[in-house]
Amino acid sequence: MPKILLENVTKRWGDFTAVDNVTLEIPDRSFITLLGPSGCGKTTILRMIAGLEDPTSGRITIGDEVVFDSEKGINVSPSKRDIGFLFQNYALWPHMTVYKNIAFGLETLKWPKEDIDKRVDELLKLLKIEHFAKRYPSELSGGQQQRVAIARTLAPHPKTLFMDEPLSNLDAKLRLEMRTELKRLFNTTDSTFVYVTHDQLEAMTLSTKVCLLKTGVIEQYDDPLTLYSHPANTFVADFVGNPTMNFIDSKAKKGSNKKEIEIEFAKAIFKFSSKKTIDTIPEDVIVGIRPEFVNLNSGIEGEIYSSLPSGMSTTLIIEYRNILITSVVFGQVDFEIGTPIKLNFQPDNVVLFDMESGEKFAEGTLSIIEELPISEEELEEIKAHYELKGKEVVQEEETDDNAADEKVSFADKVKNIFKRKPKKEE
Ligand code: ATP
Repeated sequence: MPKILLENVTKRWGDFTAVDNVTLEIPDRSFITLLGPSGCGKTTILRMIAGLEDPTSGRITIGDEVVFDSEKGINVSPSKRDIGFLFQNYALWPHMTVYKNIAFGLETLKWPKEDIDKRVDELLKLLKIEHFAKRYPSELSGGQQQRVAIARTLAPHPKTLFMDEPLSNLDAKLRLEMRTELKRLFNTTDSTFVYVTHDQLEAMTLSTKVCLLKTGVIEQYDDPLTLYSHPANTFVADFVGNPTMNFIDSKAKKGSNKKEIEIEFAKAIFKFSSKKTIDTIPEDVIVGIRPEFVNLNSGIEGEIYSSLPSGMSTTLIIEYRNILITSVVFGQVDFEIGTPIKLNFQPDNVVLFDMESGEKFAEGTLSIIEELPISEEELEEIKAHYELKGKEVVQEEETDDNAADEKVSFADKVKNIFKRKPKKEE
């Protein structure tokens, strides 16, 4: 399958810009996910490539053929773009059996009868719906209908397969199974998959590359592990990963050379050693660290704020001078609330973001130099700061349909700090 190229594609409805000057190359035989919160323009991009929506401006090329060009007035019809679709609303034909629903497209394409039977049987097995071949859609559950829709879309071996939240109606177990099957399917076909989801785990586990969008703009387009380990900004860092990355508001100063920065939060002074030289150091920065890189047993001392064992791993929320830091420990461990615990940050895995722009400007190692005494007043200030910040994040999340996402968010952690019981008098 040829590559797909979007160049400066914009889609406006009146004054509202849904997709803003997007340039994106989807390589041949890749599994690309368009990821982002509700309303960020994922479906619109998919529909524009397919020809179901006309861009306001820009150019779309599939292989050697320009299928849309606003300047040259080119607009190839959807039926000539050889794309298979699977939408969230997978309308099956109600008067046809499951078998017929899958076979119908192949009959239209004039496949020989025995080839159709073979292909339909293959798909019924693959999607574990062989027992329902003779049933009508109204006799199936939502999840079963979704699997029939997937089988129907895959039937003619489309060269490009577009899927818009195809697993949204399935329960968690079936979702996982279908993810596994989709990934296997991708490896056994020559097709290019373009997949829309707001589920970061789905995007991370399935894709060769993830295109993370926010309000119609691409925030980062990379393979999943690059996105996870080297996020371009706080939006990406926060969106990808569960539990989410720790973000600690800090002050920064020049260090002794171009690769060193002095970092301060909660009256603790750290040395940050960058992997690369840094020219400009913002005064206000955010220290970012993934929970699995918060190591225990040495370093600064906090106490267990909450311990959430899940069997395979335990999520620990540790309070350090009124800052909550999440750590994930693998294996079966549990701690009493209030237990003193030391923590440090794994070398090479700390990210620094410019607080104003949210952009990443350095990656490296953060090590403690000294902890200065902190007063009650200063502790209160820290608490108030995070309370305010927590409220802002909660407001943002409440205006986002995606708030149902099960992520243990920064906001949740911050909200929790104020639910805590007062400490017993010593
Ligand atoms: P979701 O995850 O909720 O499906 P999405 O990222 O796929 O969201 P789109 O469906 O692409 O988002 O919509 C992007 C934006 O464009 C949204 O704010 C939506 O309200 C707006 N939009 C979509 N279609 C139209 C339309 N026909 N007229 C006006 N605005 C539209």
